Amino acid sequence: MAAVRSLVAGGKTSGLMVTASHNPACDNGVKLVEPNGAMLPVDMEPWATQLATAETDDAVVSVLDEMMNALKVSRSSPSSSRVIIAHDTRDSSVRLAHAAASGVTAMGAEADMRGLLTTPQCHFITAAANLGLEETEEYYYRELAEGFAAAVQGCSSSSSSSCAAALIVDAANGVGGAKLRALAPLLTSAGLTVEVRNDGTQAEGVLNHLVGADFVQKEKVLPQNFSVETDVGKRCCSMDGDADRLVYFVPGSPCLQLFDGDRIAALAASYTRELIDRVPALQGLTMGIVQTAYANGASTAYLKQSGVDVVLTPTGVKWLHEAAHQFDVGVYFEANGHGTILFSPRATQAIEDEMMRNNNGNGKSSTTALTRLVAMKRMVNQTVGDALSVMLLCEAVLRCKSWSLDDWATMYEDLPSRQLKVKVQDRTVITTTNAETICVTPKGVQPAIDAVVAKYASGRAFVRPSGTEDVVRVYAEAESQDATEQLAREVAEIVRTMCGGI
Ligand code: MG
Repeated sequence: MAAVRSLVAGGKTSGLMVTASHNPACDNGVKLVEPNGAMLPVDMEPWATQLATAETDDAVVSVLDEMMNALKVSRSSPSSSRVIIAHDTRDSSVRLAHAAASGVTAMGAEADMRGLLTTPQCHFITAAANLGLEETEEYYYRELAEGFAAAVQGCSSSSSSSCAAALIVDAANGVGGAKLRALAPLLTSAGLTVEVRNDGTQAEGVLNHLVGADFVQKEKVLPQNFSVETDVGKRCCSMDGDADRLVYFVPGSPCLQLFDGDRIAALAASYTRELIDRVPALQGLTMGIVQTAYANGASTAYLKQSGVDVVLTPTGVKWLHEAAHQFDVGVYFEANGHGTILFSPRATQAIEDEMMRNNNGNGKSSTTALTRLVAMKRMVNQTVGDALSVMLLCEAVLRCKSWSLDDWATMYEDLPSRQLKVKVQDRTVITTTNAETICVTPKGVQPAIDAVVAKYASGRAFVRPSGTEDVVRVYAEAESQDATEQLAREVAEIVRTMCGGI
């Protein structure tokens, strides 16, 4: 399929990453990368599903033939198609990468084996290859490190004591550990030191097991090799097994303080808004953030107050990424820490034009903000969420604002929230609209939810069917934990009685 994507793009290079991301070490999977560095388009997913579930070699071949027919390409043309193939650190990954290479070669395309890469590196290098840029890891490290150095230029690393200390990074015993070690020496001159833990080199360290962003965000407990005794109050972050998501945390007692994707989004979006506001020539640019209904209502309220437009999409990173493109500068993060900032061609042009004018001696007062925007654009991996890039983004914003993690924590206070599951006979009777915030069918469910929500201060609730099982998911938030629990129970009861609960 990766070879077909290369053919469809007229022989441009596509990418293929063997990884199962944050999932257990025994699992594996594949992520396909479009020639522009993006994820596989949503309308290609049914083909991917057919290929993945084809039971015989003959079935694989006929699905491929059907797909090529539908997409009007053939195996023989163009002759220069190429697929960049990389993999994570799983035991099965090398073998699967070679199997993928055999498939790519059988399709008449060149298999360009890159060995170990993070998923975002695979996206970045694939995009670079088609832009005529240097398609190497070294170029990636240079862009991130030089972007970071420019972003923090003139900000003292000692002005905020918490940012002067080393950042401790949990690499989930995955591919991100070695890659961060490669990047780290390029960051020290800009005043950032990192201490990498769980880099996968210890015999007892298992990929994604009791470590990593998914574990920290869901369980809200410290990963292995972190302890309250030695690490309390320290600035830490955690990436996942293929390094495409990141959350920050501070070890504390009785529990850690978590800075999830919502908080990273708030930090990144409000700072970007500030920078744009300081450059008069950029006032025509639209800027906004994409959230799902699961984003805490307090973060939404904070962002709106900061002058950031907020739009909602259904859950799923593909929807968020797509929606972020509607802005000149679009920010999105899922709560799990996957996200990035996208700059439109119009924004890029406006920023470059203004840099030119400034270099000619005009508009000096806004130069710092502009320089930082340029640096941010360089350090952010715009193809996909990237743990290393997001880490540098957060570090730069904290440094430039002279913020400690306490300052970051007090941007807003999360509303208490509760999620419940209700088993139903048939989940297909429940349909939703408006980014899953409104229940369309069965009729009467939404008015019933509205009537209950109206009783609670800062109350909000929605229901949506699970994608995989006969379960309806209930989300509720309100001013106090007690009220939230009560609201969630009342909404779950509505689902049970009106949606065929069992
Ligand atoms: Mg991942």
